[in-house]
Amino acid sequence: MLHETAPLLRLEGLSISRPDGSAVLDGIDLTVPADGVLGILGESGAGKTTLAKVMVGWVSDPLRITGGSVRFRGEDLRSSDVQRKVRPRIGFIGADPGNAFDPTLPVGVQIAEKLLAVAPGTDMAEAKKRVIALLDAVRIPSAARRFAEFPGQYSGGMLQRAVIVDALINEPDLLICDNIIQPLDVTVAAQIVRLLKELRARTNAGIVFITTSVPSVAEIADEVAVLAAGRIVERGLPMAIARSPQHAVTQELVARTPRIWTGEPAPEPSTAEVTPILQVSDITKTYSVKDRSRFFGKQNVQAVRGVSFDVFQGDNFGLVGESGCGKSTLSRLLSWVEEPDSGAILFEGKNIAEMTGRERFAMRRGFQLLLQDPYNCLPPHLPVGRTISSSLTIHGVGRKETAERVRAAMAEVGLSPDDLHRLPIGMSAGQRQRVNIARALVLEPKLLILDETLSALDPVEQGRLLNLFERLQAKHGLTYLFISHDLAMVRRVCTRIAVMYLGKMVEIADTGGVFYDPGHPYTKALLSAVPTLDERPYRTEDVLLDGEPPSPIDLPPGCSFTARCPEAMTTCRMKEPALWSRQPGRLAACHVTAPAP
Ligand code: SF4
Repeated sequence: MLHETAPLLRLEGLSISRPDGSAVLDGIDLTVPADGVLGILGESGAGKTTLAKVMVGWVSDPLRITGGSVRFRGEDLRSSDVQRKVRPRIGFIGADPGNAFDPTLPVGVQIAEKLLAVAPGTDMAEAKKRVIALLDAVRIPSAARRFAEFPGQYSGGMLQRAVIVDALINEPDLLICDNIIQPLDVTVAAQIVRLLKELRARTNAGIVFITTSVPSVAEIADEVAVLAAGRIVERGLPMAIARSPQHAVTQELVARTPRIWTGEPAPEPSTAEVTPILQVSDITKTYSVKDRSRFFGKQNVQAVRGVSFDVFQGDNFGLVGESGCGKSTLSRLLSWVEEPDSGAILFEGKNIAEMTGRERFAMRRGFQLLLQDPYNCLPPHLPVGRTISSSLTIHGVGRKETAERVRAAMAEVGLSPDDLHRLPIGMSAGQRQRVNIARALVLEPKLLILDETLSALDPVEQGRLLNLFERLQAKHGLTYLFISHDLAMVRRVCTRIAVMYLGKMVEIADTGGVFYDPGHPYTKALLSAVPTLDERPYRTEDVLLDGEPPSPIDLPPGCSFTARCPEAMTTCRMKEPALWSRQPGRLAACHVTAPAP
């Protein structure tokens, strides 16, 4: 067990309270040894982020420490003198890499300046060399060029890796990772976990890995403590916790961990005659962006390339792929927020491009888009009841009917009538998403496009909302299009799945086909990275993707997956594979699984 070796960080009886005396953390006892990995597992709201921050000595107003101690190498972290002295020895990585860097300065320069501040005597040339070496070690492609790029030019996965470099640049003795993988794609999250394991082996740093994911913590930690309502309710070896959870909270977290290959059979598409509600035919979208290397230069980003698929009424269709693959562009095209450059989108058999303004306005009632970020998609100054009713007001519904429909929709999504006058600021992420769902439901839609709607939620809240979606579908006959990087969630609810890579569909099949008989190496790579406690059919070591996809500005000839594909052949570099039908209802764009001519 971890605490048998010398302690690097020790929390004894630590309690933190709010001004009203209620406890955020209550009597926490934890030990992190040098060279050990302590996992902290808990739902949203358990107190994980407060715990992460107190491990760095950050307890800010209005919270205060009301009991116990937190010591780093025996020194009391509550003292500001000790904090000043030991702070450079502790690295902290938060869950929001987007806000970790100043957007006006190059990422590499910001990290180098941090090194100069804590290592007097180092010059800029030496600092730059070390930053580039570390950017390279965390597999940021073209590290020397990326050194001078701004945060806005990094993808989400690259930014998270840059934050790790920032935390490691002065070789800390302790690394606190606060929920760093939840917002990431499965492939990037798997890369980050692998990277932390390598770093631990190389630097001997102690690591605290805080997460809601049982499989991730089981993969990396030596010991796990489960946090619930500010208290440690269970602790033990990771596999013991995963196989035989004792506390109700741990049992729910384990129960919510998807069983991909040993769980329920995959949902199957209906065999009855079904009508398409949405028909997407060969749509493309290219953006023109500034070329930073030429004064008046422009470059074309091919965001969506010849995408076609149908979604059937009352069905659940999934669309998966890494960040930057074009999923969000596609969701904007489908909901007609933007128009495709070519191709057609038909809603209930009518081409949206050919509808009159009045027809399109009416169509929007039946066609609702729910976005990922539960924090920024609600107006902060409006009570949630007004936010929900605003869409009815736009569509000219009278006040009395609006009030009735708002209350009914709130009740359906599990919000109380008392929430009607609340502002979003006091609500949890799950409650905010319920407000968003209610806002869509009042319009009685037929199709809901869920663009990473559940990605920011912990597995327990995610499970509750999936149950809600199932109930709403049974009652109202809704059709769902789930756009997500979360394959396990899509596996649970969708009957058919499309896999997207660099703006193209590379596989479309029934869910059983995608998970048990994938026809594209990219699908296998995604499956190898799904966090699960199951035995995987694909070993991560064999097929996990490294690095980033090629730039959509400068696509290579032939198959755009060639540079990352373990099965690539000479033909792949020359000829782009079409989306072939390899079995009835199962299509894949790969020369290996293409039918013989
Ligand atoms: Fe890999 Fe070639 Fe298939 Fe592309 S066509 S996925 S490079 S095997």
